[in-house]
Amino acid sequence: MSKYVLVFAGYAPSGFKKSTFEAISEGRRLADRLNASLTAVTAGHGVRNIAGGLAEYGADRIIVCDHPELAEFDQSRYTSILEDIVKQNSPGIILFGPSSYDKSVAACLAARLDAGIASECVGFELDGDRLLATRPMYGGKLLAGVTLEGAAQIACIRSNVFPVATAPRTAEVVTIDPQIKESRIRIVEKKLKNSDRVDLTEADIVVAGGRGVGGPDFGLLERLADLLGGAVGASRTAVDEGWRPYADQVGQTGKVVSPKLYLACGISGAMQHLAGMSSSECIVAVNKDPDAPIFNYADFCVVEDLFKMLPALINEVRLLTY
Ligand code: FAD
Repeated sequence: MSKYVLVFAGYAPSGFKKSTFEAISEGRRLADRLNASLTAVTAGHGVRNIAGGLAEYGADRIIVCDHPELAEFDQSRYTSILEDIVKQNSPGIILFGPSSYDKSVAACLAARLDAGIASECVGFELDGDRLLATRPMYGGKLLAGVTLEGAAQIACIRSNVFPVATAPRTAEVVTIDPQIKESRIRIVEKKLKNSDRVDLTEADIVVAGGRGVGGPDFGLLERLADLLGGAVGASRTAVDEGWRPYADQVGQTGKVVSPKLYLACGISGAMQHLAGMSSSECIVAVNKDPDAPIFNYADFCVVEDLFKMLPALINEVRLLTY
């Protein structure tokens, strides 16, 4: 089997995400252990200008597919481009990031190559050239070791699990003129959510709420997150109650976040929640129960009703920012 490792550097309309650097860093670690080279592939419109930055994280070769027709994400086009590259280069391991774009291309590529795929991976080992991926199963109730059959082993990483590591090198940048095939998808209208808030998994500050918020009105948490330039997260209870969308869920069966500051409001600190946020640099917990388990993990513990604490905090932050 080919030892060569390929990482798809994601759809990046507004620059690469941290998760792309996580995938490339892990690709570098695997390539080093295999004594192999690492190629990063990036596709889109305008990516030529930012592609060189991937060398910072250890790519030996960067394949750039820049075309106006790739400005909008189109799963079939992106898959076709990658399929051509994979067939020409025969990588043994193909890594993807955790975004829904990445995962959809990875799944289509696996189908076209008749290859195995493991998603949401939280760890990798190598047995010779074979990848042993660790991934949660059954809603996070267990961690499974997965091996992939076939010549190409495809895996998507979970966000905020693999550390970003710089490993600068002088990469060979290869620009290819992609064959843009007729698409079966036509974008008729695009509606963007009216939110300037940062992506939860990329945010430096996360203000998260749980059952203690008491209902769907997360206004105080949103106001604080906006003032701090952060994102809003939620416990599974808040999501199951229908107060927040699943995309906001932090934890074992939600997203893994690793911000500089995680402010947990009205969250008890169940282990399944901790699984998604315990690697935060600083955890501040606001809970009116002094025995709440979250206080065992928090760097700063505020025993208070969140409806008293948050307005006071918002006022302080406002004073500081004006
Ligand atoms: P609770 O445990 O009910 O805690 C609410 C807290 O709010 C209490 O500590 C209370 O003292 C406090 N409070 C109440 N009112 C106020 C107030 N006014 N001011 C301040 N504090 C107040 N959970 C997740 O979060 N993410 C997951 O991904 C996840 N995955 C799971 C997977 C599996 C397989 C299973 C079995 C469970 C999973 N859970 C997950 C659920 C988890 O076990 C807990 O049930 C959940 O995290 C509890 O959410 P909570 O902390 O919001 O609610």
